[in-house]
Amino acid sequence: MEQKITANMGIKQANRTNIYNLLHGEGALSKQAIVGRLHLCLPTVTQNIAQLQEEGLVEEVGFLSNTGGRRAKTFDVVAGARTAIGLDITRNHITAVAVDLRGTITASVRLRCRFERTDAYYRRLGAVVEQIIQEAGLRAEHIQGVGIGLPALIAGDNQSVFYGKILEITGVTGAEFARYIPYPTALFNDANAAGFAELWINRNLSNAFYVMLSNNIGGSVVINNQIYSGEHLHSGEIGHLTIVPDGKPCYCGKKGCVDTYCAATVLSSLTDGDLAAFFALLNRGAPEAGARWDTYLDHLAVTIANLYMLFDCPIILGGYVGAYIGDYLEELKRRIDQYNIFGDRPDYLRVCCYKQEAIAAGAALNFISDFLRTI
Ligand SMILES: [Zn+2]
Repeated sequence: MEQKITANMGIKQANRTNIYNLLHGEGALSKQAIVGRLHLCLPTVTQNIAQLQEEGLVEEVGFLSNTGGRRAKTFDVVAGARTAIGLDITRNHITAVAVDLRGTITASVRLRCRFERTDAYYRRLGAVVEQIIQEAGLRAEHIQGVGIGLPALIAGDNQSVFYGKILEITGVTGAEFARYIPYPTALFNDANAAGFAELWINRNLSNAFYVMLSNNIGGSVVINNQIYSGEHLHSGEIGHLTIVPDGKPCYCGKKGCVDTYCAATVLSSLTDGDLAAFFALLNRGAPEAGARWDTYLDHLAVTIANLYMLFDCPIILGGYVGAYIGDYLEELKRRIDQYNIFGDRPDYLRVCCYKQEAIAAGAALNFISDFLRTI
């Protein structure tokens, strides 16, 4: 008897989840359309819609166009009914975003603040979260959680850093970051968070490699719509592929890593750390910027060609340089082409959709994804 009740509860829960997710994925639908799509009976759909409306998660949005007779009402999810906060922590900046149930960034803050493992810093982090909640006009009970993107490798439970050389945070826990954040928190590797955001926005993509061309290089492997983390949680760390044997020294201790040739700082060091200024200089035809860009593209082409050889899937260029690379994509493709032995055109190469806020958005979207799975 007990088992039957549990099974029924399971079906009830599944119906609710499926109805909500159908509306989330497709937008305005009538009850009849939901009945048809999910093969449920009308009373089940009616009851669930009424319940979801009462909870403020679904609303009436209009009518189907008149086909004679009574016009059917259409329903959709309330995108702002829940929100997640995402943080991107780098050596010198904090970026915070609020993301609604449709993945739209509804508020964002970016400030210069040097990372340090001090109580004052964590207090500041808490204040940034509070600031974004105020700016977006959010209610505390509607916040699903705070995702924190870090330039570090994160343990499987998303609560501790097991390799964090860039910020010297190896061993730091989620609790330390969350000292002044009164919401559920989880830590994410920066590139994986950004890769997750790109996957979210490109629903038709099931396999991809996300390349994060920021002040450090990261990568994220997406297979069958899932981040492939690797057996030791460090898959996709392309920053430390060796592309020049015995080349320039890398912060990891090796020589000739991709990171030392393709980090955004390789370019921005010419313009006092200002990447926008570098690209402005390049556009003006300044020879020193042109020479640096030329070498950069050569190294990037080798890296991308190697990735494509390994994965044979779309490659998304993101990170700081990804935000500028659109104008130079054809040139990059031309250079990659010389390594392509299969003759297919490098159409697999694409530019990221989320620009500045990909890491923070992806860290937040993990909480939105959990909500959709368990509603
Ligand atoms: Zn390295």
